[in-house]
Amino acid sequence: MTSLTKLLERNKNWAKKVSKEKPDFFDKLSQQQKPDYLWIGCSDSRVSENQIVDLPAGKIFVHRNIANQFLQGDMNSNSVLQYAVETLNINHIILCGHYSCGGVLTAFEDSYNGLVDHWVENINIIKCEYQESLDKIKEINDQVNALCELNVIYQVRNIYSSDVVRRAWASDSNLYIHGLIYKLTDGNLIDLNISITNQKDLNNVFKNAVNAVFDRYIK
Ligand SMILES: [Zn+2]
Repeated sequence: MTSLTKLLERNKNWAKKVSKEKPDFFDKLSQQQKPDYLWIGCSDSRVSENQIVDLPAGKIFVHRNIANQFLQGDMNSNSVLQYAVETLNINHIILCGHYSCGGVLTAFEDSYNGLVDHWVENINIIKCEYQESLDKIKEINDQVNALCELNVIYQVRNIYSSDVVRRAWASDSNLYIHGLIYKLTDGNLIDLNISITNQKDLNNVFKNAVNAVFDRYIK
């Protein structure tokens, strides 16, 4: 008996149930991987991509880390992006954040938490850049949620600046990057309207998306 006994039992029951309902499910899934989306999201256990968009295994290629970041120097996320775009030929990249994100809160509070402080440093820089506007938002929770939205917008911008996306666009690929944010309180995804298909629209769309964040929170 190990501490994983219950988990392994659940797995056995699940595999049995799926095989009974769809006898060819595992055969088909094991033949090839052809997902429609790349999902870059937060590690938060409550934001499970397949569940919240109600898609089965095989449809979403996934990369998750604390506070759903895409950093230029991060080999992990950059490799995932390259594989998704150049090998799996995925055309839709979704960067999904969520409200009340613990990683964003860590950056917001600027307190000592160990290694994670380094990981969220870039979000702290975003906070400093918009400190004056964030201070105009009355409730602290809303300030954190506004920073959650700004973080999504900035991470999408980082993806736009990546070599992989620039190369894809230079070869006329139909690559879209979407910035979404998930509401833990009602299960809805909100589009932050930052999808573009070429570099020349970037600055305008980026500026409008940032302005929209503050329009939402500053009454
Ligand atoms: Zn989070």
